[in-house]
Amino acid sequence: MKWSWKITRIAGIDIYIHATFLLLIYLIGISYWNQHGTVSAVISGVGFILALFCCVVLHEFGHSLTARRYGIQTRSITLLPIGGVASLEKMPDDPRQEINVAIAGPTVNFVIAILLYLYIDFQNVPMTAEELSVTGGSFLYRLMIVNVFIGVFNLLPAFPMDGGRVLRAALALRMDHAKATQKAASVGRLLAIGMGLLGIMYNPFLLFIAIFIWFGATIESSAEQLKSILSHASVRHAILREFHTLSPQDNLARAIELTLAGSQKDFPVGYQDKLDKVLYHSDLIKGLQEKGEYARISDLPLQDIFNADINEPLGKLLERMRGNTAQMIYVTEGEKIVGLLNLENIMEMIKIQEAIEKHHTSQG
Ligand SMILES: [Zn+2]
Repeated sequence: MKWSWKITRIAGIDIYIHATFLLLIYLIGISYWNQHGTVSAVISGVGFILALFCCVVLHEFGHSLTARRYGIQTRSITLLPIGGVASLEKMPDDPRQEINVAIAGPTVNFVIAILLYLYIDFQNVPMTAEELSVTGGSFLYRLMIVNVFIGVFNLLPAFPMDGGRVLRAALALRMDHAKATQKAASVGRLLAIGMGLLGIMYNPFLLFIAIFIWFGATIESSAEQLKSILSHASVRHAILREFHTLSPQDNLARAIELTLAGSQKDFPVGYQDKLDKVLYHSDLIKGLQEKGEYARISDLPLQDIFNADINEPLGKLLERMRGNTAQMIYVTEGEKIVGLLNLENIMEMIKIQEAIEKHHTSQG
C-alpha cells in the first residue's frame, strides 16, 4: 500500500503503518490537549488508541495464523485509521477453512475481552453499569468494552466484515461460490438499508456504517464476478485476429498510413514469424515531430512485446502483466502468430461477459 511504513516484523509477517493512521494519532492528541490541557490527558488518550490498535493487530494475526495452518501466507498487515488489513495471498477455497479464517479475528477480540474481565474481576474492583460504556470507566474497562464492540461489529453478516465472509462460506457449502457471494452481498445490502434508516432516525454514525457496508457488498460481488469470468476465459476469447505489423525497415509514413486506415494504434515490429518489439502510438507521434515521416521504424524507441499462448487463462496472463507497463501482447498458437491482445481487448471482453451474465441472472 502507498504511504505505508514498515514498523516491525512479527512471526514472519511485516507490519505496516499508514500515514493517515499517524494523522489520526496526531488529531486525537490535539483534541485531548484542547479538552484537558495536560500532557497526562494526551498520553492517556493516545495510549488508549495505541492499545486499541494492538488489539486490532492481534485480530489480524488471528486471521493470518489460522490461514497459515492451511498453507496460506500473509504478505503484510497494514494499520489504517478504520482498522487493520491483513493481505493474505488468497482466501481458502474450502468454505469450512474460510469460515475458520474469518471467525478467528473476532474470536481474538472476545478472548481479550474475557481476559480483561477476569483480570478486572480478580482485582476485585466492582463494575457499575455507568462504567460499562465506551467513554466511561478506567483504561482497562474501556479496552474490554471496545474489544467486545470490535468483535460484534466484525461479525455483522456483511462485506467487508468478517461476518460477510462467514455467511458467504456457509452459503458456499450448499451452492457455487459465485452464487453464494451474490446472495451474501444481497444480505449485506439489506442490512445497509436497515441500518441507513435507523441512522437517519437515530444516529448519523449508523448511516456512515450503512454506506460503508453498501459499498463493501458492491465491491465484493463485482470482484467475485470478475474472478469467475477470468477463471473461465482464456486468451482465445479476447484475441484481436485482424492486425498489421511493421518491419524495422519500414518508414514512419507506412505506420501513419496503417493508423489512418484502421482502428489499430499500436503496431508490433519484427519480421513475419518473429515479433519482438512494439511501436506505441505516442512514440510514433513523438518520432514524427523529431525525425519526420521518412525516418525508419528502427530509429524510434521501441518497447518490448510480450507473448502469450492462445490457451493461457486470462487470469494468469493478467497476473503476469501486473506491474508491467507493456500493454501489447502477441498471441501464438504453436509456432504461429495468430493475433494481438491488449488490456483494452480484455476489458471489452469482461464488459461483454458481465452483460451476458446479468442477462442470465435476471432470467433467474
Ligand atoms: Zn477481521
